[in-house]
Amino acid sequence: MRTSWGSATDRGRVRALNEDSLLAYPPVFLVADGMGGHEAGDIASRLAVEEFSQLLGHGTATVEDVHACFHRTAERLAETVGGGRVAGTTVAGVVVAELDGGAYWLVFNIGDSRVYRLAAGELEQISVDHSVVQDLVDAGDLSPAEAAVHPERHVITRAVGGGLPPEPDYWLIPAGPTDRLLICSDGLTSELTDAVLRSILLEREDPQQAAHELVRAALSAGGKDNVSAVVVDVARAQRTADVESTADAGHVRTAAPDADGATTWDDAVDGDTVPRPTGPAGTRTPEVLA
Ligand code: MN
Repeated sequence: MRTSWGSATDRGRVRALNEDSLLAYPPVFLVADGMGGHEAGDIASRLAVEEFSQLLGHGTATVEDVHACFHRTAERLAETVGGGRVAGTTVAGVVVAELDGGAYWLVFNIGDSRVYRLAAGELEQISVDHSVVQDLVDAGDLSPAEAAVHPERHVITRAVGGGLPPEPDYWLIPAGPTDRLLICSDGLTSELTDAVLRSILLEREDPQQAAHELVRAALSAGGKDNVSAVVVDVARAQRTADVESTADAGHVRTAAPDADGATTWDDAVDGDTVPRPTGPAGTRTPEVLA
């Protein structure tokens, strides 16, 4: 599957540094939002990009490949940022994957950067935030509207760094011939509603123009945080051909890396979205969206 893409990032109108980093080149597209201050966050997000860059030039990547990148990022971060300093980074993104000859998006996430898919004109958030407010929404104690203005809305519950092994979530989605993916840091989604994201993604056909316009709109809305956007399309020349290769993609599997990085494959019900488990944080299993 061929992709076309665009990306944009900006320090914003308030922050002194841009601690976001991004990577956009097949088969990997991601955003990392570093935290820690005093350049530690900048280092953390750049280390993630450096490690995931090892996937560049491969036609596809597997969940084991991605999992290894997360672990190498955490290891290098522990070596690089010592002396009692705390540094970490979110990482959200997608790699192009192949399963039984079909093209898939392997979506991954730690933290509150996000992956969305625009398909058939509808925008759907694929990743699930690791945040205090997401936990409250999951528990039924907070509405999504209340979450958007909650004082703890920027507090995340998982990150790469901080001395703990990384715990990414994964989703494996059959790639549709007209899919457009948006990967972004919270500096975008804290300024713009999903309705605004959708309208910009629908209006701007060129992925670079779309990414640029998304960031510009976030700056106009306040730009209180660093803001980054990556837009990935299935390349148009490929779209007709890919209808055939993905039309029979109903047989979906979940990929669940176990503790030592090996993968177990479990057949899911054809075409069904697997509900997210509601156990305590850290026990979520990968889900499949079809
Ligand atoms: Mn941010």
